[in-house]
Amino acid sequence: DEATGESAVSAAAAGTNQAGATAMVDITSVRKSFGPLEVLKGIDLQVRAGEVTVVIGPSGSGKSTLLRTINHLEKVDQGRISVDGSLVGYRRSGDKLYELPEREILGQRTRIGFVFQNFNLFPHLTVLENIVEAPVHALKRPREDAVAAARRLLDRVGLADKADAYPKQLSGGQQQRVAIARALALEPKLLLFDEPTSALDPELVGEVLDVIKDLAHRGTTMIVVTHEIGFAREVADTVVFMDDGRIVEQGAPGDVLEHPAHERTRAFLAKVL
Ligand code: ADP
Ligand code: MG
Repeated sequence: DEATGESAVSAAAAGTNQAGATAMVDITSVRKSFGPLEVLKGIDLQVRAGEVTVVIGPSGSGKSTLLRTINHLEKVDQGRISVDGSLVGYRRSGDKLYELPEREILGQRTRIGFVFQNFNLFPHLTVLENIVEAPVHALKRPREDAVAAARRLLDRVGLADKADAYPKQLSGGQQQRVAIARALALEPKLLLFDEPTSALDPELVGEVLDVIKDLAHRGTTMIVVTHEIGFAREVADTVVFMDDGRIVEQGAPGDVLEHPAHERTRAFLAKVL
């Protein structure tokens, strides 16, 4: 099962027990501006191995930017982020930080799966080719191993019969399930989802959330940005409410969603529920 992503993920989950309080993701005092616009105004967040963190908050509050900093798709202006004990994008030397060379950043990124709102599949490749591309080219896996793993992953997301289809022949929900299988093919220790169901017709949302729920039950460490409050209530270990570049409150879903401490959280929930 090594090539399916399951072994990496369960090893990560096991880390919770070995490492005790060690976080899989450790975000400390992160600030990020675009020109004069400060988008992240001092973010502190820890995600423990095997846990699901759901991030909610109004449009423009900085949710996507926060996810992108975890993958070093955006560089932080201040603060630091580590994933599985490694500083993201930088190397420490004495009390200075040096940005890693591009090749090493790409290497770090292969260990963090990212699923976007708009699937981002390669349109000219079949479903199977979409999934084996990165394991073969980025991880130098033998092609037949990558193909076997891809078929197992397709089976897991309920699309075993779609291996030879092209993305445009699939529904949005099916495309997003392929995108999840593709992310899993790199055996990530962390999965990031940015509004994975926002682009889908309502009747297709459930099949994608079911796949994400299955990953949660397998102990996959995930950060999920979503407006699906029912999903958050059911699956999240921690719900984080962001507004205007800050984490306003975070805690167990039963607290943040049912008994929010802050007026801004209450106002947001009143709009999305
Ligand atoms: P959310 O995902 O919560 O909707 P984002 O992180 O996408 O919020 O955006 C937060 C703010 O940062 C918004 O005002 C957005 O317009 C701005 N922003 C995001 N990316 C960029 C960028 N590359 N350049 C300039 N402004 C950006
Ligand atoms: Mg966003």
